[in-house]
Amino acid sequence: MRYEVDKNGCWNWLGPTMPTGYGTVTIYGKATTAHRAVYELLVAHVPPDFQVHHECENPRCINPAHLQAVLSAQHRQMHEHFVGRPATCKHGHPFDEMNTYFRKTPRGVQRQCRKCKAIRERERQRRLRVTMQEDLMAQLPERTQSTQT
Ligand SMILES: [Zn+2]
Ligand SMILES: [Zn+2]
Ligand SMILES: [Zn+2]
Repeated sequence: MRYEVDKNGCWNWLGPTMPTGYGTVTIYGKATTAHRAVYELLVAHVPPDFQVHHECENPRCINPAHLQAVLSAQHRQMHEHFVGRPATCKHGHPFDEMNTYFRKTPRGVQRQCRKCKAIRERERQRRLRVTMQEDLMAQLPERTQSTQT
């Protein structure tokens, strides 16, 4: 089982994935989703009318602490909450399974765009770099160019 733990505590599956972002494994010749397989292996058997929901909403995650077995019908309802809302973020990135993560806020669960988050993170890193450069420049000794007349 290959996975990588990220800062959210998600165990990101490194094996093959489906177009939906879920990891896939083959057990006894039968293809199944990686998170379901791990849940069955480490937590409990999942009855056929149950699905394994990601509380972290990261489809690649296989951390059993982030997984929850729920009735299929109930699971659909949990996701239908967002049906009928705009299909893209305000910058036009699709709110599909791969690009969306969910965040609990005082106003309820909100959809967040991963692309926008990555852009914000890059911008933050860039600003940090500029500040560090300015800091460094300020600490360098005065240039001696002014002595040339
Ligand atoms: Zn997770
Ligand atoms: Zn779910
Ligand atoms: Zn976006």
